[in-house]
Amino acid sequence: MLPRGWITLCGGEPHAYRRLSAFEDDAQPFHRADRQKAWLFACRSCQTLERMNPTTQVRWISQRFLLLLGLVLACTARASDSQHSATDRVCPASVVRVIAADARDFRDACYGAQAAMTFLAAHGLQPSEPLVLEVTPAMPEEAGPTAVGCYLEQRKRVFMLPYAEFSKQKTWFNVPIDRDLYRSFAAHEAAHAVAACCFAIPRPTIQAKEYVAYVAMFATMNASLRARVLRALPGKGFASENQITAIFYMLDPMRFGAESYRHYMKSKNGAAFLQSVLAGKVLTE
Ligand SMILES: [Zn+2]
Repeated sequence: MLPRGWITLCGGEPHAYRRLSAFEDDAQPFHRADRQKAWLFACRSCQTLERMNPTTQVRWISQRFLLLLGLVLACTARASDSQHSATDRVCPASVVRVIAADARDFRDACYGAQAAMTFLAAHGLQPSEPLVLEVTPAMPEEAGPTAVGCYLEQRKRVFMLPYAEFSKQKTWFNVPIDRDLYRSFAAHEAAHAVAACCFAIPRPTIQAKEYVAYVAMFATMNASLRARVLRALPGKGFASENQITAIFYMLDPMRFGAESYRHYMKSKNGAAFLQSVLAGKVLTE
């Protein structure tokens, strides 16, 4: 059974439901705008694709997907200056700046960002500028009306919802939202911010950026929470680089995250694979 929102997205096409049900997952809050665009894309594509031979299908998907990326990644900023009561402070023993109205949100954003920075520093990644995370109920317009978090490269700033708003989604990664998950949410976005400076190629793919951010997020997650999340999203990890695709991410970002971490944890991958991603040697198309 598909979550309710998808029925709207798919415009009531039973044909599309069948095709998409293979990727079924709970509706999830993270990158919802991206996901909705992906579903709209996928739903509209089902019938068109069926009329094509396999070679044409691949070419068609590639072309449409590049168009889609143009939409999804155009996450430029419109400042959320409406948060008058927010304080702008540097995290304790850190260079990370967090703007937040709520003291617990401030601490959680600091914790998540610092955890991601420590993990990535162990892989040789240092942000070129101090990280800035803004906890705001008003996401930048370009992130879409349903976005819960966004890293804007143009502004070099992370935007994320306050916990009170984020937790309205009830679940994330198929487990109930709590403060631990919220810290992981901050870690994910902070990892994007750190990694943005450190790719050796000018335009890394979305799967490359998300692989790094998800690995950092899972690696820094509370261990019992990580075990619960991985149980909620069972899998064996990506078996090869070829499976780590943008289309997989677009269709199921939660599972992409879990499978990326499992892939990273395999002995033949780990830090070496992460370095290859950053060097632009893998996950390039
Ligand atoms: Zn991400």
